Amino acid sequence: MRALITGGAGFIGSHLAEALLAQGHQVTIIDDLSTGRFENIAHLVGHPSFRFAIETITNETVMDRLVSECDVIFHLAAAVGVQLVVSRPVQVIETNVYGSAMVLRLANRYRCKVLLASTSEVYGKGVQVPFREDDDRLLGPTTRSRWSYACSKAMDEFLALAYHKQHRLPIVIFRLFNTIGPRQTGRYGMVVPRFVRQALRGAPITVYGDGRQTRCFLDVRDAVRAIIGLAEAPAAVGQVFNVGSTEEITILALAQRVKTLADSPSEIVFVPYEQAYEEGFEDFQRRVPDISKIERLLGYRPRYSLDETLQSVIDYFRGREHDQDNTADPV
Ligand code: UDP
Repeated sequence: MRALITGGAGFIGSHLAEALLAQGHQVTIIDDLSTGRFENIAHLVGHPSFRFAIETITNETVMDRLVSECDVIFHLAAAVGVQLVVSRPVQVIETNVYGSAMVLRLANRYRCKVLLASTSEVYGKGVQVPFREDDDRLLGPTTRSRWSYACSKAMDEFLALAYHKQHRLPIVIFRLFNTIGPRQTGRYGMVVPRFVRQALRGAPITVYGDGRQTRCFLDVRDAVRAIIGLAEAPAAVGQVFNVGSTEEITILALAQRVKTLADSPSEIVFVPYEQAYEEGFEDFQRRVPDISKIERLLGYRPRYSLDETLQSVIDYFRGREHDQDNTADPV
């Protein structure tokens, strides 16, 4: 296939680009490097089947040409990360809503299949775990910025499903749950790269709240396998799928696991949410996907254990200890 990956220089996009190239596909990426990094794709430059454009997806002229030359769009470009969502809410809403609207309109013009990246955030503070794709959603008030992210991605989902319903555009939506691996940055709040960098520096490992909140962390290699599997499955079209791990861990236990694996002297400290984010910040106590739908369709199960994945992140940061950009990353 001729694949276009929006956000292809980002953490997940760059791993997806690698995997598609390894399978013999042609890959073009577009990324404005707002949260992605050129370094993530530098090793792909020069590959005969790889092209890139450093540009925003809201540039219609560029996007029109790229979309006209592809068969499948993996739409991953988005403003993500709780820290970013809270600190730059305008950018989050505009990028996520206008950007996706542009991608879908052009995909429809050239009849390209669209794999739309969404997020477990759309479930909001659903109390019934695990989360199933057709569950009701419960979001907080509009005065709390965090919820704008969930709403913007839900709007993307509505729009993609609308294009499918009204114009028979082939779309597939995947809701990613906490995905981790090399190249993820802690700059926008993600917990694992932050804990790993803190542990490697011997700095305090900052657990927000009481640390009893839980998450399930999926290895990016497993995420990429799911995304490509969905792209290749005709029966996935028009549907929404959870993509995540079901291995649940408390954030405090995660901190301890990282400390042990990194053989770190760091102490584990508790930071109140108001101090970490903003006054009135609401966190989720548990976030667990029901992945039976993708399992039924593709026979999909994640393969990597949390320890294996954490080790890959530790190795990645160990290899970058002298990197300028890396050291500029706040812990
Ligand atoms: N978290 C933490 N310390 C940090 C960063 C995050 O304890 O330095 C917590 C955060 O409050 C949340 C969990 O780790 O409960 C996962 O955070 P992340 O932003 O990675 O993902 P999300 O909240 O979107 O699931």
